[in-house]
Amino acid sequence: MNSISTMPSVPHSEISALVKRAADRAGFDLCGVAPASDPLELAHFPEWIAAGRAGEMKYMESRDDQGELKRASLSRVAPWAKSVIVCALNYNTDHPYSTELSDSARGWISRYAWSREDYHDAVLRRLKQVEAALHEATAGTDPSVITRSYVDTGPIVERVFAKYAGVGWIGKNTCILNQKKGSWLFLGVILTSLELRPDFEAPDRCGTCTRCLDACPTDALVAPYQLDANRCISYLTIEKRGPIPEDLRSGTGRHVFGCDICQDVCPWNRKAPITAASEFDPRPGLVSPALDWLAGISEEEFRQAFRGSPIRRAKRSGLRRNAAIAIGNSRRREFLPILEKLAQDDDEIVAESARWALLQFQEDTGPIVPR
Ligand code: SF4
Ligand code: SF4
Repeated sequence: MNSISTMPSVPHSEISALVKRAADRAGFDLCGVAPASDPLELAHFPEWIAAGRAGEMKYMESRDDQGELKRASLSRVAPWAKSVIVCALNYNTDHPYSTELSDSARGWISRYAWSREDYHDAVLRRLKQVEAALHEATAGTDPSVITRSYVDTGPIVERVFAKYAGVGWIGKNTCILNQKKGSWLFLGVILTSLELRPDFEAPDRCGTCTRCLDACPTDALVAPYQLDANRCISYLTIEKRGPIPEDLRSGTGRHVFGCDICQDVCPWNRKAPITAASEFDPRPGLVSPALDWLAGISEEEFRQAFRGSPIRRAKRSGLRRNAAIAIGNSRRREFLPILEKLAQDDDEIVAESARWALLQFQEDTGPIVPR
C-alpha cells in the first residue's frame, strides 16, 4: 500500500470480495484467490517433465535465465506476485457425451473445441473486466498494483492454483472438478502484487472412484492423478506431429480432435449445469462430425470452418490423419474409397495413416460390427 496516500484504504479482504463480484458480473461461474506461493504439487513438475510425460509439448518445458523450469515455481518467474485470482467459466452445452454416441460414421471433437469463439478470447475478455475492477478499486490507495492475466499462456500450472483458490479439486483424471459445476471449466488466472485474502483449498472428493482410470482407452492415466501425455488421445490428436504411434491407433477410436472420455464418465459431471455463455454454442457440424467430411476436407474449407477455432492447432494435415485412423477404427466399408484415395495423398503422414486404416479392414475377418 502507498503509505503517503490520504485516501481511506480498502481492506484486502474487501478487495477479494469485490473481485469475486466483478467475476460474477463478467460471467464467470467460479472465482477464488490463492496465495502466490509454490504449492507442493509444483515440486513434482520437474520429475514429470524429466520422465518425458509432456511428450513434444516443448512450451511446457520453457525455462528461465538460470535454466529452471518456469512452470515449477511461480515465485521465481513472478516474484512480485502475492496472489493468484483464479476464475472458471463453464462451457458445457446441452449436447450428448461422447460415451452416449453410437453412429460409427461419425467421430468426436472435444467439447471445449466446438464453440464459435476461441475460448482463449472468451475467457480473456472476462478476465480483463475483473482486472479493470481491481485497478479501479485500488486506484486511489495503491495505483502501483501490478496485474497480469493469462489463459493457458502464462508460466503457471493453472489447475494447481485453482485447487488452492477453492475453485475445485484436481481429480484422478487430472482435471479440475467442482462439486456443483463438474469439470467442463475453462480456467483463467490473474496474478497480482496485492496480498488478497485467500480462499480455502478445495477438498478432494474422488474417494474410492476409479471410473476415469478404468475408462481411458489408451491407459494414459498411468496412476491416479498421473497423466502420461504421450498416451493421451488429446495429446495424440492435437499436439502430436508426424505419425500417431501404431500401438495407440486402435485405442484412439473415432476421436479426431481431443478426448472427453475421462470427464464423460465422471459422476460429478452427471448433472453438470449448462453454460449461460452463448459463445460456446457449437459451430454447425462439430458435435460428432461426419468422418468422411473431415477426411476429405480441402484447405479452403478447413480455413473457413475453423477460423478462430482451437481446432486449427491440429492443422489440416493432423485432422485428416486423425480422420483416416478413425475411419479405420469405424470399419465402415462405404468409406473404403475415401481411404484408398487418402492412401495416395501427397501428405505422407496422411497417406501412411490411411494405409494402416485399410489394413484394419483386411485383418477384419468377421462381419462389420459398428463400434
Ligand atoms: S482425455 Fe481420453 S485418453 Fe486422455 S486421459 Fe482422458 S480418457 Fe484417457
Ligand atoms: S471419475 Fe471418479 S476418480 Fe475420476 S475424476 Fe471423476 S470422481 Fe475422480
